[in-house]
Amino acid sequence: MLSLRYKLALYYLVILSLVLMVCGLAIYGYISRSLVNTIDESLDHQVLKLEQVAKLSTYDSPSDEPNFPPGGEPEAENEVIPLAMHLMQVINERGEIKTESYAHPQNEVAADLAALQRLAPDQTYHDTVNLPGGEALRLATRRTRGHDGADFYVRLGYSLAALQQARKRLLLIFGIVIPLALLLSGFGGLVLANQALRPVDSITKAAEQIGAGDLTERVPVPQKMDEIGRLAATFNSMIARLQAAFERQKQFTSDASHELRTPLAVMRGELEVTLRRDRTPEEYQRTLGSNLEEVIRLSRLVEDLLMLARADAGRVELRCEPVNLTDLCRNTVEYISPLADERAQTLTYQAPPQAITINADQQRLKQLLLNLLDNAIKYTDHGGTITLSLTTDNQHAILAVTDTGRGIPAEDLPRVFDRFFRRSAKTSDRSAPGSGLGLSIVQWIVEAHGGKIEVSSELGKGSVFTVKLPLL
Ligand code: ADP
Repeated sequence: MLSLRYKLALYYLVILSLVLMVCGLAIYGYISRSLVNTIDESLDHQVLKLEQVAKLSTYDSPSDEPNFPPGGEPEAENEVIPLAMHLMQVINERGEIKTESYAHPQNEVAADLAALQRLAPDQTYHDTVNLPGGEALRLATRRTRGHDGADFYVRLGYSLAALQQARKRLLLIFGIVIPLALLLSGFGGLVLANQALRPVDSITKAAEQIGAGDLTERVPVPQKMDEIGRLAATFNSMIARLQAAFERQKQFTSDASHELRTPLAVMRGELEVTLRRDRTPEEYQRTLGSNLEEVIRLSRLVEDLLMLARADAGRVELRCEPVNLTDLCRNTVEYISPLADERAQTLTYQAPPQAITINADQQRLKQLLLNLLDNAIKYTDHGGTITLSLTTDNQHAILAVTDTGRGIPAEDLPRVFDRFFRRSAKTSDRSAPGSGLGLSIVQWIVEAHGGKIEVSSELGKGSVFTVKLPLL
């Protein structure tokens, strides 16, 4: 497998050879064509003159010949002769060569009467014949009518030996220059590819050193922010994201095992103590009751964990349908109000005048409302007030759960949606039951519906959780 640098140099070389070949062919064709055109123009000019001169000799008697003014027509005769150097022929209508002059005997071209008779009168025809010696002759032939009424043909030939020589020289030059240019460019391309890919090599080496366990390493970022610089920076930010994800995962696993282990340890302790000696039925009942509480807590925790794990894997499907949010809020408030009553709290619902409908998964929305209201009740002292309000702006339904509870300090606000984050655990106040997963689940539900959740809070005064969900 060729390395990238050789591949780049090779592609470059192939493209360059194609370009040079096309250019070479174009130059060769253009030069050949224009040389032949120049010869043809000259032949055209001369063959007309030869035709005039030859026509003079077709008068039946010398007395019929016109009297040219002095310095007139005879001049033309002088101009024709130099070009007829290679071949000049006057052929009569029977195909017999009447007058002929050639530079070398091998320049002689036979008169093919059938071909000549196919020519239209008073037009110049060009063609090229290859002589036995390998030389080519460019011909200009005209058919014309003499004064005696008989057709005759004039023909001039110009040797293409010089042109062939020029073409050969051009090919020779191309044959030397093109391979030389390719050689130099190939070498140059390799040097360039090497130089361009050197930073990639160093990034690769650095990346190899970053093992799965050591995500603190970073690849060196070149000073210039070109493609390579951006690649290194992007790679580093990807490693940083991976590192953060790894950390979260580690934290999640350790928090999850901790949360599972604690209730199990409590249950085991209670059961062991109870089983140490015979107990009264009441004592057994108390232990079993307390164990049941822990089992319920554990099942809820496992359910929450499962739900988040499924959500992470993208395996939680929303069953979306039009949901009347106004009614859903009323029902949920009614459902949870016994909990608020237990704590002598005032739970109110500020409903909008009209029904607000959104496209959503009803069960998940209920779960969202229950989690937020349950938190508000849990973290608000006896006699406090909790309000759920539902409003809209142009595009969203806006749910706000406001309480007059203990509030959340500013430094904890960004973390309340983190998994297993519990302020009560931090303040060693475990009186409020919970696992620290409720708000993570709420956040997931909101985002899965294309919405946003925000929290504002003042310590000691209360909190407001605001959820915005897109309207139908
Ligand atoms: P938990 O199971 O502990 O309630 P959550 O994810 O629902 O877990 O909440 C995380 C933490 O955020 C809670 O432990 C609590 O400290 C804080 N919190 C949540 N809601 C409120 C609220 N309404 N008032 C004050 N603190 C709250």
